[in-house]
Amino acid sequence: MSGYVGRFAPSPTGPLHLGSLATAIGGWLDAKTNHGRWLLRIEDVDYPRCVAGAAQHIMHTLQRFELHWDGEVMVQSQRNSAYKSALTQLTQLGLTYPCGCTRKDVEDLQGQRQRNTTAIYPGTCRQGLAPGKTARSIRFKASETPVKWLEFDSGEQQENVSAQSGDFVIQRADGLWAYQLAVVVDDIVQGITDVVRGSDLSDSTGKQIALFRALQAEAPCYWHLPLVLNDAGEKLSKQSGATALNLACPVAEMNRAFKVFGLPDIAVETPGQWLAEAMPLWANYRGERAFKPPSKAATGALGRPLPPKD
Ligand code: GLU
Repeated sequence: MSGYVGRFAPSPTGPLHLGSLATAIGGWLDAKTNHGRWLLRIEDVDYPRCVAGAAQHIMHTLQRFELHWDGEVMVQSQRNSAYKSALTQLTQLGLTYPCGCTRKDVEDLQGQRQRNTTAIYPGTCRQGLAPGKTARSIRFKASETPVKWLEFDSGEQQENVSAQSGDFVIQRADGLWAYQLAVVVDDIVQGITDVVRGSDLSDSTGKQIALFRALQAEAPCYWHLPLVLNDAGEKLSKQSGATALNLACPVAEMNRAFKVFGLPDIAVETPGQWLAEAMPLWANYRGERAFKPPSKAATGALGRPLPPKD
């Protein structure tokens, strides 16, 4: 075993589709080619969006594909006290505040109500609730000092979270924990060293790093994998018409998922054989994509560049 700890963190909003299978395969292969562990976390923190039975279905699907996870499954809906103590810790550091703004308030202030754009919070309640407002959500105070982190395939990144997103919500108006807080608390507790996930989550990384820093924890290395797109070029999701995986033909589905990485079909009978054959192909794919630091820079463990210094 190496020190590598990866994870797959599906939200149980429906069955896995080809895009989530590609992420699971990429993550599993990445962990296993690095002699690491691959953990499973069910991200059901936004439970109004969760579908009854979906978590069991996801686990059954992973088993069908022989994508076996290591250790116990972590389930976010059972982790309320961990998120609460992280919130307390951040509050004691003076890094949170109650906010009385609705999403509409923020969007109206910005005049940007286009679909798919997230308005930057202008800090309305940072110095205290505006007159007539009552506390709804809790926000994290984003610093203007850029946060830095490592992307496996592009090296050091940085983001001024304050300018990009503004202070962001960590506990929602409906009392639910925000994804950004839950994911970071759990990545810390599970000792995740390498996050391999879809590139639709790239935009969340800066906010998550800000939370890692505030909670005084070391951030993992991130690798954002290409997404499976539908014919209209949209990310596969239930909304964009993703169909359920055909569990009767797992190898064919694995070959379809592998295409997103530009990797070839593997002609075998079982998912286990498929994964064994895929390992050297992945090791090669990974090696080609690894960020190559300028010749003089040192390289750290697992072929990664050294972590950035703040
Ligand atoms: N639960 C998230 C999703 O299903 C993934 C979170 C992550 O990998 O950081 O999109």
